[in-house]
Amino acid sequence: MPAITRAARMTERLPGRLAQAAAALKRAAMPAVATWLSRGAIFGALVGTLIGALLGPSEAAHAADAPNAALPVVAAENFYGDVVKQIGGAYVNVTSILSNPDQDPHLFEASPKTARALQHARLVVYNGADYDPWMTKLLAATGNSSGDGSGGSGSRQRAIVVAANLVGKKPGDNPHLWYDPRTMPAVARAVSAALGTADPAHKSVYDANLATFLGSLKPLDDKVAALRAQYKGQPVTATEPVFGYMSDAIGLDMRNLRFQMAAMNDTEASASDIAGFERDLRERRVRVLIYNSQATEALTRRMLGIAQQSKVPALSVTETQPAGVSFQQWMLGQLDALAKALAQK
Ligand SMILES: [Zn+2]
Repeated sequence: MPAITRAARMTERLPGRLAQAAAALKRAAMPAVATWLSRGAIFGALVGTLIGALLGPSEAAHAADAPNAALPVVAAENFYGDVVKQIGGAYVNVTSILSNPDQDPHLFEASPKTARALQHARLVVYNGADYDPWMTKLLAATGNSSGDGSGGSGSRQRAIVVAANLVGKKPGDNPHLWYDPRTMPAVARAVSAALGTADPAHKSVYDANLATFLGSLKPLDDKVAALRAQYKGQPVTATEPVFGYMSDAIGLDMRNLRFQMAAMNDTEASASDIAGFERDLRERRVRVLIYNSQATEALTRRMLGIAQQSKVPALSVTETQPAGVSFQQWMLGQLDALAKALAQK
C-alpha cells in the first residue's frame, strides 16, 4: 500500500482536532506539491506533526524514567520481543507492536499509540527489509537516535537493532527473516550487546541469558538438519513466502514464487501463475502446500481447497508468534508439522 494512503488512513483514526490538523497538512501537500515531495517525506511530516500534537508538555515531563525501572523496549514484531524478554528477563519491559496472529502484518498501519510507545524506548528492535516500513518513519519522526545498535546522543539514548542489517537483507528481499535459522542468533547477540551498554550493571546477566538462548536453538538446528537429510530437493509450494528461508535451509524445492510474492504484496497473480499453482496441486506435483493462515484471501483459500480435494497435505504457518509459546516452541512445532506432512504419501 502506498505510504500516502497509509498516512491518509491513519488520520481517520484520530480524534477531531488532530484529524483537522492532519487534514490541513494533507491539503497543503496536495497533488502539485506531491509531485516533487516524496511520499515518504509527506508521511514523515504528517507523523511528526501528529506526534508533536499528541505528546504535550505533560508527556514530555515524565519522559525521564525512574533510575531503577526496567528498560523500556519496543519490538515491532512479537518474536523479536520474545527474544528481548528471554535475554533481558526482569530488567526489560517489552512492548511488541505486531502480536496478533489473526491479522495480516503486511497490511498493518501505524497508529499514534505506536508512536507513543517509541518515545520512551531505550532499545528498539524491528525487522527491516520493508516488512515494517512504518517503523523507520516513526523512528525518524520521534528523533534522538542513531543507526544500528550504537545508540544516539543526548540524555536519553535509544539503541536500534534492525534484523535485516544484521543478516545483509534489503527491501525487495524476502522479508520473513525470522524463519531463517541464521537470523535469531544474530538478533540475540545484538540485543544482548545493546542491553549491556544501556544497563552495564546487569551485563553478566545478559551474557548468561544470551548463552542460554543460543543453546536453546540447538534442537531447531538439529531438526532442520534431519529434515534436510531426508527431504532435500522435494517439491513443495506455498501461498505466501513466509516459510521461504526455512524451506531453503531444509533444501526443499519451493515452487510458484511469483504467485507467493503477489499474495504477499496484495497484487494480482497472473492467470498463468494461478494455473501453474493449480496444476501443481491437482496433479500432485508438490508434496506439501505451506499455507500462511495470516495472509488469506479468496484466491489463497481456493488453493487450500484444491489441495484438500487433491489430497496434498497442507501445513499451516503463521507470521506472528502465537500467544503462550516461545519462539523456539513455535518454530519447532511448525517443523514437526512439516515432518508429518512430508511423511504422507
Ligand atoms: Zn508475509
